[in-house]
Amino acid sequence: MFKKYKSAKDFASAKPKELEAIIRSTGFFRSKAKNIKGLGERIAREFGGKVPSTLEELITLPGVGRKTANVVLGHAFGIPGITVDTHFGRLSRRFGWSKEMDPVKVEFEVAGLIPEKEWTNLSQRMIWHGRRICHSQRPACGACPLAQLCPSYGIGEMDKVKALKRVKSDEDFR
Ligand code: SF4
Repeated sequence: MFKKYKSAKDFASAKPKELEAIIRSTGFFRSKAKNIKGLGERIAREFGGKVPSTLEELITLPGVGRKTANVVLGHAFGIPGITVDTHFGRLSRRFGWSKEMDPVKVEFEVAGLIPEKEWTNLSQRMIWHGRRICHSQRPACGACPLAQLCPSYGIGEMDKVKALKRVKSDEDFR
C-alpha cells in the first residue's frame, strides 16, 4: 500500500476498490479502506499533509481512537503512550493493576503505576504476552515466565507439557 500511495493526497484520491483489494487480508477491509481514504483527506486538508502529533488531534481522525493514537504517538513520535487493547486490559486485571473493564480507566490506572518512559514498551510487552502465553481462554500458566510474580498464576493450564503446547510463536501471527 505504501509503495503505491506516498502522501496524504495520494490516499485522499485513492479509489476505494483499489485500497480494499490491497488490504483485503486484514479483515474489515471495506470500513478500513473508507477510513484510510478519509484519513488522507483530513490530513491533507487540515494538517498540511503531516500526521498530527497530539492525542487530541489524532483522535479526531477517521478510525482513530485512543488506542491507535497512543500507538502512533509512541512509535512514530517517541511520545510515551499506553495502548489498552483487549490483551492489555485482560492482563492488567490478571496482574491486579486494575479492576476496570473500560480501556480508558485501565489506561489511567496503569499510568499511575508505571513510569511514563516505560509506557510504549510496556504496551508492546503486554500485548505480545497476551497473544503468546496469557490467552483469554486457558492461559499457559505452566509455561509462563511471570508465574512467580503473577497473582493470577493457576487460572490456566498448569501442566508444563500441555502449557508449552498452548504457547504461540511469532510465526503464528505472520
Ligand atoms: S501466570 Fe498465568 S495468568 Fe499470570 S501472566 Fe502467566 S499465563 Fe497469565
